[in-house]
Amino acid sequence: MDAHIKKRIKEIGGGAILFDVPMSQYTTFRVGGNVEAMYRAGNLEELKGMIAFLVDEGIPYLILGAGSNVLVGDGGLDGVAIILGGSFASIEDTNMGGPCVLAGAGLSLQKLVDFCTQKGLAGVEFLVGVPGTVGGAVAMNAGSGDQEIQGVVKEITVLTGGGIVERRDRLSLAFRYRGLDLNSGEIILNATLNLRFDKPGSIRKRVISNIKWRKERFPLDMPCAGSIFKNPESDYAGRLIDAVGLKGRTIGGAMISPKHANFIVNTGRASVSDIVALMDLAMVNVREIFNIQLIPEIKVVGKG
Ligand SMILES: Cc1cc2nc3c(=O)[nH]c(=O)nc-3n(C[C@H](O)[C@H](O)[C@H](O)COP(=O)(O)OP(=O)(O)OC[C@H]3O[C@@H](n4cnc5c(N)ncnc54)[C@H](O)[C@@H]3O)c2cc1C
Repeated sequence: MDAHIKKRIKEIGGGAILFDVPMSQYTTFRVGGNVEAMYRAGNLEELKGMIAFLVDEGIPYLILGAGSNVLVGDGGLDGVAIILGGSFASIEDTNMGGPCVLAGAGLSLQKLVDFCTQKGLAGVEFLVGVPGTVGGAVAMNAGSGDQEIQGVVKEITVLTGGGIVERRDRLSLAFRYRGLDLNSGEIILNATLNLRFDKPGSIRKRVISNIKWRKERFPLDMPCAGSIFKNPESDYAGRLIDAVGLKGRTIGGAMISPKHANFIVNTGRASVSDIVALMDLAMVNVREIFNIQLIPEIKVVGKG
């Protein structure tokens, strides 16, 4: 990124722009090289201005939620990482045609669950403990147990790469296991979720029970990005990695969690190449022994 582009980005983004930012500070794995620029968008008009400039100049951008499903290469990331703050992190209880909330893409899932619990709106308890944002959860079709966010999405609003704001109802959205088909450059701005009324006390009980279930099962005390691989059909990636004897295996500072084999944890000084080497080891072993190809669930972006 040359000095002229940096100057223009700074003019458009104002105080919300930082340059040469370590992605380790913005991802739950706590690893990754620097991104050329980081922009925290506060509202739609500002975001539109920035996207128009980046698209015109051919500068790549990555929308970042809480960075809980992203692994950025040690060599860093070209272009601009965009975080949705300000008005994108709001939530309101709309109750349009039934119990509904309109949640901004930048809102944390924790705040979504807290808000719904207080208001007596049930349906998102399964998302408690998933450390992402509403936008990231919709983009990834986040789920737990037998529930996925697609089950409560009524509609979403997106900003296209061409600067158009579009509302898309559930029927027009192509969700899949841990993903949603979006066109290149599209940004989820908010989601309307269909919920149901229940007593706050009953909702809270389910939230607490889900937190307990997650604590027992997952290594939540170490930096990681959740499940590394998608579960293959009719099986579990964790079971397969455990069965090939890789639980607890370390490479450098990365370790296949002894608690759950589909989690790779950063024991403190992991590099991205340590994590990628462990992923490769798991994929090779599972393929050789079970003839099953594991597919990463996490998004690996950036260089080297
Ligand atoms: C400890 C731990 C436990 C986890 N448990 C679960 C679990 O139970 N179930 C589960 O499904 N996942 C789980 N995850 C993974 C992760 O939290 C989810 O995938 C989450 O939905 C990602 O949200 P995020 O905001 O962090 O997205 P990010 O990781 O920041 O981004 C993920 C992808 O979504 C895209 N994206 C983000 N926001 C937008 C937007 N507004 N518009 C368009 N694209 C966007 C990004 O570009 C990227 O491609 C876990 C992760 C951790 C660390």
